[in-house]
Amino acid sequence: MELSKEFRFESAHQLPYVPEGHKCGRLHGHSYRLTVHIDGDIDSSAGWVADFGDIKAAMKPLIEQLDHNFLNEVPGLENPTSEVLAYWVWDRLQPSLPLLSAITVHETCTSACVLRKPA
Ligand SMILES: [Zn+2]
Repeated sequence: MELSKEFRFESAHQLPYVPEGHKCGRLHGHSYRLTVHIDGDIDSSAGWVADFGDIKAAMKPLIEQLDHNFLNEVPGLENPTSEVLAYWVWDRLQPSLPLLSAITVHETCTSACVLRKPA
């Protein structure tokens, strides 16, 4: 069974390594949507895989670092692509959420990056 929970935050960023003149090199912002996926068996007594509230609690300190901030100034996000952001969240979330199976970062309505646990 897979559970997912979506989080939203607003952040500014600028990509330092794109070619000269690339629009992502300019300072701009995104309304990010980030989906946390966890995989596990249903606990027969509780009838659930996990408490959605536990996912929310695990994400709270990370959202506080990302929301309404300039991502380039967050340690570890000096090159804040969606791919780097997915790894940044994974590394910080996994210790408190061992069932973590995937993270999706939606940078815009049409562009997303998915990081999955290796098989
Ligand atoms: Zn961007």
